[in-house]
Amino acid sequence: MSDQVQYSVVIPMYNEEEVIQETYRRLKKVMDEIGESYELLFINDGSQDSTLEIIKEYARWDKKVKLIEFSRNFGHQVAISAGMDFANGNAVIVIDADLQDPPELIKDMTDQWKDGYEVVYAKRTKRKGETAFKRATAFLFYRLLKSLTEIDIPVNTGDFRLIDRKVCDQMKQLHEKNRFVRGLVSWVGFNQTVVEYERDERLHGESKYPIKKMLKLSLDGITSFSYKPLKLASFAGVLLSLAGFLYMLVVIYQKLFTDSTVTGWSSVIVIQLLFFGFVLSILGVIGEYIGRIYDESKGRPIYIVKQTYGINGLKDNDTL
Ligand code: UDP
Ligand code: MG
Repeated sequence: MSDQVQYSVVIPMYNEEEVIQETYRRLKKVMDEIGESYELLFINDGSQDSTLEIIKEYARWDKKVKLIEFSRNFGHQVAISAGMDFANGNAVIVIDADLQDPPELIKDMTDQWKDGYEVVYAKRTKRKGETAFKRATAFLFYRLLKSLTEIDIPVNTGDFRLIDRKVCDQMKQLHEKNRFVRGLVSWVGFNQTVVEYERDERLHGESKYPIKKMLKLSLDGITSFSYKPLKLASFAGVLLSLAGFLYMLVVIYQKLFTDSTVTGWSSVIVIQLLFFGFVLSILGVIGEYIGRIYDESKGRPIYIVKQTYGINGLKDNDTL
């Protein structure tokens, strides 16, 4: 394609009007310093504020700025995936819009890439300015994910990473709906390496990941890469039936050889509640998987593009 560039920087944005100008300025500075051709590919994930207008304005006079506008909010992971679909670069860098991922690290990433690594992910050694709750849940989640999945998903990495064109092309082949991008990148393999950094505070605004979205992301991460919760459920089921069977023997014995059978109402209730709770949560686990199977079977596109700006090619309906 004619607009082949060395680097594509993919920036997913959801209501980032307070920070996006600074993000653009810093990214541009870093990329200009690297001194090779590049494009800044912004994905507007259904922002309700003026994020779109700001980037539209940039796209008007900066030909390096490209913009994809979703028809609504599809979520961070989907926005990243769209960025990979549209990127032209020989290497693709994914970075958050809120400057928690320092753009200056891109230089280190490109150096590693030139040394022959196909995936360079950024590992956070510290997370500044994030609540203890966020850090604790993130810690637990990464440990849980590690213990449940077979593939090696690096602990404490977000989606801030550089991937080679080869990896990007493979990622484009993966059409699953409930995406956990960092897991998928690990799954496709290739030579992977790490650069470390201290995660900054969000420059402005607040996290666009409320608990609901965090929960969805972690469930996607686990269910996309592991059946173990299902196995655990059946294992627990077997264990409980065994316990139930043993208790049944006790009850029969009491019935036949003692006269203490009428008492024990509370133990029956306790066991009932316990077992029903257990059965329901197992059903819940199964439901999580079935829901995702259903999502896949519908065959809907992962996202819908309303409009693109500054992008040539088939999907372009550029109105600049
Ligand atoms: N984001 C997005 N769609 C969403 C939520 C978030 O594109 O539905 C973007 C957001 O603009 C930011 C990145 O994803 O660039 C990470 O979000 P955030 O900083 O809120 O997450 P946190 O750092 O708190 O985990
Ligand atoms: Mg953030």
